Amino acid sequence: MTTKVRTRFAPSPTGYLHIGGARTTLYNWLFARRHQGEFVLRIEDTDEVRSTPESVTAILDSIKWLGLDWDEGPVDENSDKGPFGPYYQMKRVATYRAHLDRLIAEGKAYRCYCTKEQLDEMRRLAQLEKRPPRYDGRCRALTGAQRAANEAAGMKFSVRFKMPTDGATIVDDAIRGKVSFENKLQQDLVIWKTTDGPTYNFACVIDDHLMGITHVTRGDEHLSNTPSQIQMYLALGWQPPVFAHLSMIMGPDGGKLSKRHGATSVLEYRDQGYLPHTMRNYLALLGWATPDSQQLFTDAELITKFDLAGCQKSPATFDTVKLQWMNGEYLRQTGIEELIALAKPFLEKAGLWGPPGPDLKTVLSLEHEKFKLLSDIPRLIEFFYKPVEFDPKAFDKVLKAPGAKEVLLGLADALKDFAPFEDKALEERIRRFVADRGLKNGQVFHPIRVAVTGRTEGPTLFLMLEVMGRDMVLARLKDAAARLG
Ligand code: GLU
Repeated sequence: MTTKVRTRFAPSPTGYLHIGGARTTLYNWLFARRHQGEFVLRIEDTDEVRSTPESVTAILDSIKWLGLDWDEGPVDENSDKGPFGPYYQMKRVATYRAHLDRLIAEGKAYRCYCTKEQLDEMRRLAQLEKRPPRYDGRCRALTGAQRAANEAAGMKFSVRFKMPTDGATIVDDAIRGKVSFENKLQQDLVIWKTTDGPTYNFACVIDDHLMGITHVTRGDEHLSNTPSQIQMYLALGWQPPVFAHLSMIMGPDGGKLSKRHGATSVLEYRDQGYLPHTMRNYLALLGWATPDSQQLFTDAELITKFDLAGCQKSPATFDTVKLQWMNGEYLRQTGIEELIALAKPFLEKAGLWGPPGPDLKTVLSLEHEKFKLLSDIPRLIEFFYKPVEFDPKAFDKVLKAPGAKEVLLGLADALKDFAPFEDKALEERIRRFVADRGLKNGQVFHPIRVAVTGRTEGPTLFLMLEVMGRDMVLARLKDAAARLG
């Protein structure tokens, strides 16, 4: 019988969900769905100082917004569901303690009484001698008497895991292949803190084992933890899972993706008007590709095609231009009713939800091709609903041009009773107006546009006039003329 695939995303709730974490979530989710397995969410809140319930909420909201569901894990900031719970590490401390006691009893872990000052000094010396800053193992070899004396003196202690001192630990990584770590270069990691709680590296091993996780896919900053984690599995008599370490995500300038490259939080992308589907598709390609370099995927395609073997070792570059392009593609594929629903929060925020004026569906259809972000929408359609705000450059260049005022007044007169007030008929009438006055198209088309929208760019002209309707067009032509004095 083959074991069922079980993957997990195990965030530390010390901030928002960033792009890297979102990609890790997505890959674990895709892999589980592809193999009809299970995807687990586990909150690694062992850092009492930096973990917050607000971060848990932000992370859960982000994953929900991305449209990724989990089979087991938190329901909200303090409850969870699933047969291997609890899924909050701080609710599992008794379990970790039991395993800790076993390791100590079997001589595979030991109490370390070194003080912060001693450890700082060790680090300083290592730096001075240009050695990697490692714990020198001095508490490994304490005699029973020394240990008893320390205990009697009530000295604080942490617990360290005994790494083998020779040989190598091979991480057989599903993305990177075999990576060998010399054991003597690894240090005896602290697995239990002086503040009496587990560290990440320990809790993570216990949980991944007890939760039956078969594949651990995570960011490459954890590759260096993996040899110690593997040795802990072995010390506990357990089979390690398959590990896969994802490549780093870079900004366009080749530096590690960070705030200075723009938004890094998933919810910021939501607020900028990206679609969850865009994010799923884009993040999937951030370090993974199909042999034919397919770019646009349905969810079903992502699930059937995603594969750890297609993940790259080399860093991936986060490219906002491509992300926007992709969002534009998906917005164009979105039906108008759905587009309205998606745009609603953005329109509400801009005071453009429900004001009197042209039919929203028609207005959105006019510009549908141009939307790249949902947040573009208010700016591109606001003049249909709000008084015209003139772009000063457009006003000076187009409306203050010689003859423009006469054109506006002449048109207002020509269109006063013109019917039908429709695209083609308006085009014909306005072209006739151009010819009658011996003008060039631009001398008429540009002033109309600026007069009714305040800008030089916008929807196709005659259809836009039809959608605005006679009253709005005439009022705006006259108003613009009046402004010209
Ligand atoms: N809590 C760790 C983090 O947020 C998870 C590492 C892991 O996936 O093992 O980085």
